[in-house]
Amino acid sequence: MSATLSIEQLRADFSEIFHAEADHTFFSPGRINLIGEHTDYNGGHVFPAAISLGTYGAARKRDDQILRFYSGNFADKGIIEVPLENLHFEPEHNWTNYPKGVLHFLQEAGHQIDRGMDVYVFGNIPNGSGLSSSASLELLIGVMAETLFNLQLERLDLVKIGKQTENEFIGVNSGIMDQFAIGMGADQRAIYLDTNSLDYDLVPLDLQENVVVIMNTNKRRELADSKYNERRAECEKAVEELNRKLSIATLGELDEWSFDEYSYLIEDANRLKRARHAVLENQRTLQAQAALQAGDLEKFGRLMNASHVSLEHDYEVTGLELDTLVHAAWEQAGVLGARMTGAGFGGCAIALVRKDALEAFKENVDKAYQEAVGYAPSFYIAEIAGGSRVLD
Ligand code: ADP
Ligand code: MG
Repeated sequence: MSATLSIEQLRADFSEIFHAEADHTFFSPGRINLIGEHTDYNGGHVFPAAISLGTYGAARKRDDQILRFYSGNFADKGIIEVPLENLHFEPEHNWTNYPKGVLHFLQEAGHQIDRGMDVYVFGNIPNGSGLSSSASLELLIGVMAETLFNLQLERLDLVKIGKQTENEFIGVNSGIMDQFAIGMGADQRAIYLDTNSLDYDLVPLDLQENVVVIMNTNKRRELADSKYNERRAECEKAVEELNRKLSIATLGELDEWSFDEYSYLIEDANRLKRARHAVLENQRTLQAQAALQAGDLEKFGRLMNASHVSLEHDYEVTGLELDTLVHAAWEQAGVLGARMTGAGFGGCAIALVRKDALEAFKENVDKAYQEAVGYAPSFYIAEIAGGSRVLD
């Protein structure tokens, strides 16, 4: 994977591509989710953190009304040109649909974007690996527009516009976690977020003698988006069934006992499992947050394991690759916990590992994975860093 980009390099790349000076440079992180998976669209809690892998950007305002986009990750597409008055989704515009969506919804919210831009982006998050390169890109473009056009925006407005882009422009019915984590992230802090009220706490992430290891299956998340939408529909249907006797808006409103008491109303075994995951995962996230605050990392690790078990057997969003990585991690010395992170179906898992056990951990998990899956995983140490920002 590519190393970090210096501001000088970013500016030099920009000049080479657009034959002009960039006005500003930017960075927007990726994210991991420590625990609380598939709870964000179920009105539950999530516990993500922004990481130092992310998307770099450089941009300048133009005198005309043309947007010109270039991504170092999609160099084969060259410069993609879009007139400012044509901010519609078009498949042949490829990755630029994300920036187009953000600019479209900014305009729709009444913000004046009356001139074109030259935009260069380059990311070192592996795309489609569950570290949310798409939300990273959305927030990057949001901060670019905010800066270049002097928009009066709260950070939460940009977070919501990123989500709206994903939902209404790209067509993925995802919750608010990714954009929130990326927009609001802070150095060495995890974000404990109630996705129903949007109340949140920045919790110091004191990992003691441990690190969070990101384990990439290197499998693209095939079918992830359609399965994602299917899970969401299953949970909505379960809420409808429960509401024959209850009056809830989301599964996040129930604890394990109230859910148990009314679970007889759910008429389908799969839906029962999906709903059980949403309810228990939310409760687990509350417990995990308390465990972290109390410095009880062993308990935190066991809750991570329980989260994976639930995602594997009840929510059924893991698959051979993620299960192999996580089960192999559980076997290793010095591992407090491991689970998949992000939407699932491939992508990444995380493990909480003692620093002095790290080398043996990687070697053994790599071996087990290659034996079962046939190709190598990748490992990165998650450095917990700040949210989307202007660099200079
Ligand atoms: P994830 O968000 O898990 O990484 P997605 O499939 O949601 O996976 O988003 C990946 C897509 O986001 C890419 O296919 C591309 O369209 C866009 N994208 C992300 N990062 C970049 C980048 N650096 N340059 C151009 N497009 C990007
Ligand atoms: Mg995404």
